[in-house]
Amino acid sequence: MEDSWYNQLRGKILANPDLYPHFKVENNLIFKHIVNKLPVKTNLSEWKLLVPILQRPEILKQCHDSSTSAHFGFFKTLKRISEDYYWPKMRKDILRYVKSCKVCGSQKVSFSRYGLMGKEKKVEFPWQIISADIFGPVTRSKRGYSYLLVVADWFTKYVLVHPMRSATAQTVSRFMENEVFLVYGVPQFIITDNGKQFASSHFRKLAERYKVQKIWFNAKYHPQVNPVERSNATIGTAIRSYIQDNHQDWDLEIHRVAHAIRTATHEVTGFPPTFLNFGRKVPISGDFYGQVESTEGIQLEPGDRNKYADDVSKLSDLYKTVVDRLHDSYKKNQKTYNLRRREIVYAVGDKVWKKIKYYLMLLKIFQLS
Ligand SMILES: [Zn+2]
Repeated sequence: MEDSWYNQLRGKILANPDLYPHFKVENNLIFKHIVNKLPVKTNLSEWKLLVPILQRPEILKQCHDSSTSAHFGFFKTLKRISEDYYWPKMRKDILRYVKSCKVCGSQKVSFSRYGLMGKEKKVEFPWQIISADIFGPVTRSKRGYSYLLVVADWFTKYVLVHPMRSATAQTVSRFMENEVFLVYGVPQFIITDNGKQFASSHFRKLAERYKVQKIWFNAKYHPQVNPVERSNATIGTAIRSYIQDNHQDWDLEIHRVAHAIRTATHEVTGFPPTFLNFGRKVPISGDFYGQVESTEGIQLEPGDRNKYADDVSKLSDLYKTVVDRLHDSYKKNQKTYNLRRREIVYAVGDKVWKKIKYYLMLLKIFQLS
């Protein structure tokens, strides 16, 4: 099913390709060339699919409602759609769609997020400073999980989630060593809100062995407001709604939501966490690679790796930009925090927080700038 506008345009492009240098037609679909404004190109195609009118609702749904998109706000939804698609006035359509989303609407809150204020800790490298926090016990899932370990990298905003049946010093240490230190690198500093497991001699020995220089313990959260990240409220609440709808399956669903966070453009850094980590888009569908006509007798061989290696080497330039943006955001946060602290404390209220365990847990995921 296609519309006449699309068909007419396709006819015009095919008849006079020279008049339409920014368009091409493949498999009856129109693609528009839009330059990615990134020093690193890697696997992000600059040919965006021009979406026929009838297909737009489907794309909006996929890039906003699916659990791997997690009902993020306008900015993140626009960025996600723009990676692969284009259509005239898409900004307006996306804004209208996000604004009228019932799930987002039912989850409105009046503040933005939690954050740690204090002396600025200089972050210059991915995984140099990480936060690690345990939430729970929360509602036991069908598979018996009632705790969640959330590890977040302060630089790239990359998030790892690890559902646990019990939160012992041993299980926590095992994850930290095998899935964090040995995969993403040993951090210089670890910041945590709940001390027990991280204060254990078991974990301290592990940290000592890997020469982690300090573990910070923050007994209390400090609410703070950053207008730039107000949209994160939508994110936190959206995840809460996913988990509340999937009480028994939150341990499965949380991985999809974590993926949504990792692939969404972060308001402060300006990049998706996956991009800052790997220098490429992390596809959520095999369609990303295009379709092969037949897999019969197909030969698999490695292509040229040099281009990718060259692109990845440019990541360090991006890091300089990220360092500046993190610093600016910190300064802004500090100012706003000091101005509005009292107001926020009254607005939120401790009781509300204690009531909804998930809320706290999920918002904590976004205490990331
Ligand atoms: Zn929504």
